[in-house]
Amino acid sequence: MIDTTIFENKTAAYYTLGCKLNFAETSTIGKMLAEAGVRKAREGERADICVINTCSVTELADKKCRQAIRRIHKEHPGAFVVATGCYAQLKPEEVAAIEGVDLVLGAEQKLDILQYINSLQKCGEDEAGRVAVTPSKDIRRFSPSCSADDRTRHFLKVQDGCDYFCSYCTIPFARGRSRNGSIASLVRQAEEVAREGGREIVLTGVNIGDFGKTTGESFLDLIRALDRVEGIERYRISSIEPNLITDEAIDFVAGSRSFMPHFHIPLQSGSDSVLKLMRRRYDTALFRHKIEKIKQVLPEAFIGVDVIVGTRGETAAYFEETRRFLEDLDITQLHVFSYSERPGTMALRIDNPVPPEEKHRRSQVLLELSERKLAAFYEAHIGETARVLVEHTQHGEWMHGFTENYIKVELPYDERLSNEVRSVRLGGWNEDRSALKGEL
Ligand code: SF4
Repeated sequence: MIDTTIFENKTAAYYTLGCKLNFAETSTIGKMLAEAGVRKAREGERADICVINTCSVTELADKKCRQAIRRIHKEHPGAFVVATGCYAQLKPEEVAAIEGVDLVLGAEQKLDILQYINSLQKCGEDEAGRVAVTPSKDIRRFSPSCSADDRTRHFLKVQDGCDYFCSYCTIPFARGRSRNGSIASLVRQAEEVAREGGREIVLTGVNIGDFGKTTGESFLDLIRALDRVEGIERYRISSIEPNLITDEAIDFVAGSRSFMPHFHIPLQSGSDSVLKLMRRRYDTALFRHKIEKIKQVLPEAFIGVDVIVGTRGETAAYFEETRRFLEDLDITQLHVFSYSERPGTMALRIDNPVPPEEKHRRSQVLLELSERKLAAFYEAHIGETARVLVEHTQHGEWMHGFTENYIKVELPYDERLSNEVRSVRLGGWNEDRSALKGEL
């Protein structure tokens, strides 16, 4: 039994680092604390409880988490500090040793945050010694999560964990095995978003194409069911593995009511030799086929592609293969990441690490390629009329929105347009070339 009196009149502050999944999960933790009577601290107000949801995707991410925890401890002296998320799961002792941390919650335990705080009976009242809960390695539960950003999007977690064990990745250790919510429960969450006035949902997960491991359902069944939810006008599918996005799913998106012509597919390397070193489950021929398939049924689709440069074993010749492969491919934008050594991964056994300055050079080459492709994509749509979902936020005299195929559009600020879908004529570039100017 939870003694909710210890939460009465308490305030909490939340900090999230990393991916959209983390943001969605922080929102779930916030709801649990709110139901127990904890109020969200206002800007600048000292909180009684601080929850920090950490990320560990790179060494730099770990460092940012440490800095954030220290800063938060200073900003909220005496607060009960809870660290959770991937960094907390992977390196609990390291996190517990950071000044100010009272409780380290693993991926499995974060759903029991109330019980843990309750059993520690602290919440700023008890100054007893520091407590670190060592996260367990067995992560099985699926925590349903959905969060709204400060623009117009909602992020619905449909899947968690990963069974792939790519050689460079620690996510399967941080988030456990692949599991998912049921289609019925996810449809209910989407209906709830629609009731609250939400119009756009981004489906998130670690390996969402693997959806259905726990329920025996399929990703295709999921998107078919969500497409029928009234009120949701737009869905976007966040990153999906190339070997798991089926031709049927691509055809469905092309004919669907609400799934946008927008894909995000991790390639990681355009060299088959490097893909093998990475233990990825496809080759460049399969990847090319998926891009061609999308472009055949959705010629206007925006396709974002993740690439990692400087992985161990990526010779100059292999990198050049990647560059050429990407140059040729009809894609829109690259998300370029520099390989980061992660303790405990199999990639550490591969010879020939790439020096940092060479990683930087390769990254610059691909970023420049990405800029060219993105500019060409935007410019090809100038003069067209597109449906734009306008966001809430005001940027000086401007507001922004996105077309169905994810072109950013800038409009003069007008409160009445917020969260509205409008037909907009796409003009030339805005001042800093970050969007196209739109005319209603
Ligand atoms: S598919 Fe590979 S890179 Fe993606 S989370 Fe799973 S192990 Fe990591």
